[in-house]
Amino acid sequence: MEIIVGKSAGFCGGVLNSVNKALKYLDDNKKMYCLGELVHNKQVVSNLEKKGLEIIESLDKVPGNSKVIIRAHGIAKEIYDEALKRNIQLYDLTCPKVLRIHQLAKQYNKEGYFIILIAHKIHPEVLGTISYCGEDSAIIETEDDIDNVVNKVNNSSCKKVVVMAQTTYSVDKFNKIVEILKQKIKNDYEFLVNNTICNATDIRQKETKKLASLVDCMIIIGGKNSSNTKKLFDISEETCKKTYLVENVNELEDDFSLYEKIGIMAGASTPNESIEEVVSYLKKGYFKKK
Ligand code: SF4
Repeated sequence: MEIIVGKSAGFCGGVLNSVNKALKYLDDNKKMYCLGELVHNKQVVSNLEKKGLEIIESLDKVPGNSKVIIRAHGIAKEIYDEALKRNIQLYDLTCPKVLRIHQLAKQYNKEGYFIILIAHKIHPEVLGTISYCGEDSAIIETEDDIDNVVNKVNNSSCKKVVVMAQTTYSVDKFNKIVEILKQKIKNDYEFLVNNTICNATDIRQKETKKLASLVDCMIIIGGKNSSNTKKLFDISEETCKKTYLVENVNELEDDFSLYEKIGIMAGASTPNESIEEVVSYLKKGYFKKK
């Protein structure tokens, strides 16, 4: 059996930076909170919890003067304002690429653009980004949302439209939605596309597609709540029908001796240990037979 692990599998630069800094903060401070999970991976979060991090869903849960880490996906503008009011000390570990999108959104809003965000509506990153977009904005999650959003554009007073994306959205789906929007937005509107999908996501998706075409089976490792991991699964499954999505080695329940070549990819918040555990399990070759 040949096992090929994608070069881009595992932590992206943004996640690595957030996790390393959080570990350092936890060395210096006994008790810290994090607004939502720092990254979407149970193993990483549980490791941080053991070092004194408590995950909270809202600032209401902490007393004033508390030390609160902001997750890699960022938070909404109103939460910064609330923290300031309540004297809460923020340790901002938002990925710089997400912060750049917040800045762009503020800028486009100021310049009078209607902002269309192609993104997953309830993802934490998107809840943060949309808070900087102003009233004249809307989210397209799937092609089904396009007509409603175009109506919203037509009913606004804006004459300029800009399209942006969640950092981990699928590149192919983003391009497809942009093409449809180009047909549907009236010609007298200025139409700008700013593809804000992060480079790390783009590279990973391309590598997954290629790897899936070379192997008999693909294993995608990552949190079930991780948006970028789910995208990798969808992309892989389009090419390689035998694609498995697992959070860790314990979820591998098939007879993998049936495959000659196995490809492995992992989401941006999947630690190396999870990848190594899967590789070592496959190499041992003792599989559960169905
Ligand atoms: S996927 Fe991109 S935007 Fe998200 S944390 Fe990693 S580098 Fe930052």
